Amino acid sequence: MLKLNQIPRKEPKIRIGIILPRDILKTLQLSFSDPECYEIETSSKIFPSCTNKKKINIEANDNKIIIPQLSLNSNSIKFIPSIPDDNPFVKINKVPAGRGFHWEKKIDLSYWGTIELSCINNNIMVINELPLENYLKCVATSEMSAICPQEFLKAQFIIARSWLLANIERKHVHLSFDICNDDCCQRYQGILNTTKKSNEVSELTFGKVITYNNKIGDARYSKSCGGITENFENVWVGNKIPYLTSIEDKNSKGIPYCSTDILSESSLKTYIGNIDDDGEYYRWNYKINNKNLIHSLKNNFSLDVKKILELNPIKVGASGRIIKLEIVFLNIDDRTMNIEIISEYQIRKILSPSFLYSSAFTVNKIKDQFILEGKGWGHGVGLCQIGALGMALSNNKVMSILSHYYPGTEIETIYNK
Ligand SMILES: [Zn+2]
Ligand SMILES: [Zn+2]
Repeated sequence: MLKLNQIPRKEPKIRIGIILPRDILKTLQLSFSDPECYEIETSSKIFPSCTNKKKINIEANDNKIIIPQLSLNSNSIKFIPSIPDDNPFVKINKVPAGRGFHWEKKIDLSYWGTIELSCINNNIMVINELPLENYLKCVATSEMSAICPQEFLKAQFIIARSWLLANIERKHVHLSFDICNDDCCQRYQGILNTTKKSNEVSELTFGKVITYNNKIGDARYSKSCGGITENFENVWVGNKIPYLTSIEDKNSKGIPYCSTDILSESSLKTYIGNIDDDGEYYRWNYKINNKNLIHSLKNNFSLDVKKILELNPIKVGASGRIIKLEIVFLNIDDRTMNIEIISEYQIRKILSPSFLYSSAFTVNKIKDQFILEGKGWGHGVGLCQIGALGMALSNNKVMSILSHYYPGTEIETIYNK
């Protein structure tokens, strides 16, 4: 596991939860790229190789992991690559993705490193442990095309490494892994998104992180700030963080790096992929569906609303993101009431069933219809991915990109090969 408040001086290993107790899985199928490249370790024994079973079935029973084909029955079973440099992999069938979202699905995915199986309340839990740099090759540039400028990809690797090693959130420590494989922490689809380019950029930035006051920087980022980035304390609970402070995301001529003046919508898609088909990454309009909003107020706050009367921004952050919104409404007894929605996250969640792009919007009311005119995508704190791409396309180096978004930080190499 990653240690808290400690800068590693050699490449650490990272533990990722792949199948969690909440997935309530009782059976599972695994297969190996080469079974002879794996040792099996149970709580009491070590077996030198997987005895040539390419595909194995796993069951949870009586709070134990059981593999009938290998006559194994133990509290925990590990498959450890015995020739790690050759990067053999294990394929796991039906791994959950998008837990809790309407697009939740199950996909077959392959993983480098050790696979650990254990039983929690008679459900299978799977943890993948691998060297940090191999993990970064899988996640740092997923969804990004190899034609992205190298300085931008380097920035992506350095911030992904910094965010992991700053190790702030620690949501899953009680289950003995560092992060999960989903959007709750960071989407991880095994070796699916690794490319020659991701290997190359990992080598070029090996062990590099951003630091501030001798600590690894909490390198948060979002898709697009909309022209100005947001202050940390306006989005999350906590004190100001000096390098997560609002900056103007503009070049010396005052043109926003995240704007169509630097990069058109259509060419943007060739760089960052079709994340959202009708995605408008810079400026957008959203028509509120009054019925949906009434439903959402009922679901989230148990309010019986007859009619929405007004949406009033009460507190607005430096980037234009609304951080407190008043909703004035008529209740079913025809009394005028109001509720304050606090936090940009809540505002985005309450106002749209598919999660609003950002809370940086102005409200236009035409008769009973509310139209939001918005900008940006995401919380807007720290690095703006589309702006960083714009900076790299305007010939900026990784150092100027990172010191633009995280003022006062430095790039440091904390470990070597
Ligand atoms: Zn998580
Ligand atoms: Zn921006």
